[in-house]
Amino acid sequence: MTSVMWFRRDLRLADNPALLEACAEEAVLPLFVIDPRLWGAAGAPRRAYLTASLQSLDSALRQRNTRLHVRRGDPATVVGRAARAVGATRVHVAADHGPYGRQRDQEVEAALAEREVDLVRTGSAYAVAPGRVTNQGGQPFKVFTPFSKAWAEHGWRAPVEAPRGVTWLEADGTVELPEPRTPEGIDLPEAGEGAALRRWRAFLDDGVAAYDDDRDRPGVDGTSRMSVHLKWGEIHPRTMLADLAPLRSAGAATYRKELAWREFYADVLLHRPDTAREYLRPEYAAMEYDAPDGAFDAWRDGRTGYPIVDAGMRQLRATGWMHNRVRMIVASFLVKDLHVEWQHGARHFLEWLVDGDLASNQHGWQWVAGCGTDAAPYFRVFNPTTQGRKFDPEGVYVRRWVPELADLDAGTDPHDPDGQSRTRVGYPAPIVDHAEERREALRRWEQIRT
Ligand code: FAD
Repeated sequence: MTSVMWFRRDLRLADNPALLEACAEEAVLPLFVIDPRLWGAAGAPRRAYLTASLQSLDSALRQRNTRLHVRRGDPATVVGRAARAVGATRVHVAADHGPYGRQRDQEVEAALAEREVDLVRTGSAYAVAPGRVTNQGGQPFKVFTPFSKAWAEHGWRAPVEAPRGVTWLEADGTVELPEPRTPEGIDLPEAGEGAALRRWRAFLDDGVAAYDDDRDRPGVDGTSRMSVHLKWGEIHPRTMLADLAPLRSAGAATYRKELAWREFYADVLLHRPDTAREYLRPEYAAMEYDAPDGAFDAWRDGRTGYPIVDAGMRQLRATGWMHNRVRMIVASFLVKDLHVEWQHGARHFLEWLVDGDLASNQHGWQWVAGCGTDAAPYFRVFNPTTQGRKFDPEGVYVRRWVPELADLDAGTDPHDPDGQSRTRVGYPAPIVDHAEERREALRRWEQIRT
């Protein structure tokens, strides 16, 4: 029997259980569908990265004397056509747990059934499929720590090898991949399974041991930068977990916990798909917010006059990535200093982040905004100046991304330059007074508590 392997967010050959299942059939057609509903919604950096990743997968397949077959259109129509073209009776995929992906797969499954073709789901983008880890009452966890413990206890399977000796199928009708048009001025990381594995090995050799100390310091290259590779499934998290298993450092333990956050948020989104747009804690929808205006534009452009906020927002525009600590600071600033609803910030992030992921992004935002899964919510208001001093003590990060600040006199605090110094180097005054806006945020919060 012949089959189709429909790649989606698993753009790799190694440790790909769905691909292995597909290759257990007589012959396989490797397929990717450019779905206009997803393609149009992704920002330019993510589209450029995805195209480069697809090209890399195509090259890997060409080394195996085949190629990636690409179709454009509604998957409910084009997947069935591709299956018919090669006489396939099964289409293999990794299960998608996002709100759009689940709905799409149900539609594809129904359309394939009419042609007597099965959609076969094997594995997922997670070490433990969302929905599997529950509390003793069989309910989903609402907070991270008990989830992460149960997740670790649940465990995961060992990685699987890339398939060998496969008979690949060819079909007409493949469309060219679009040119990876990287937006001007943006420097994207190298894409593809090979790049993911190289980055991971480099981090295991040079980064993981110090990760526990360095991960919160945006001026240090102390995190793995694996998020984009995980986003597109250029590596599977259980490959990473298997490599971490023998390591005894605090860094390795902390890193495992960070991977668990990704799994936790996917689980939360599975159970509450409405939280992709709505408040996880609905009472926060009733809070008084300000409409996004000129201050929102200043935030997006990195011109708020708060160096760590501006550095983060400029790093995002320049690289399609932002350090986690700074993501938290800029998100807190938007919601609690500018009083703008989290969804506006989340949308801007998804437009620019190459690792933009619905579950991690929307719930990262909701966590900071206090309306998400955090147990100690709204009254935690990040002070951008003290956060900057604490996590970027030498000002390396702010000087790198806000080059005006590199011209400050020695001895001037790069996290809070005085008015004269700001004027001299051409850096704006703070657009709001943090202490005042903090009080205002708490006032608004008190209103929804009573
Ligand atoms: P590392 O520190 O090396 O972490 C290793 C891996 O663990 C990451 O690649 C990621 O997969 C996972 N991870 C770490 N922290 C988190 C976290 N808090 N939540 C979920 N997963 C985590 N991450 C995304 O992948 N996509 C997003 O769209 C996204 N948006 C975010 C928005 C906000 C407001 C916040 C506060 C966080 C967001 N994160 C998002 C989480 C985190 O910032 C990034 O995963 C991390 O910065 C990626 O860099 P890294 O791979 O070097 O991380």
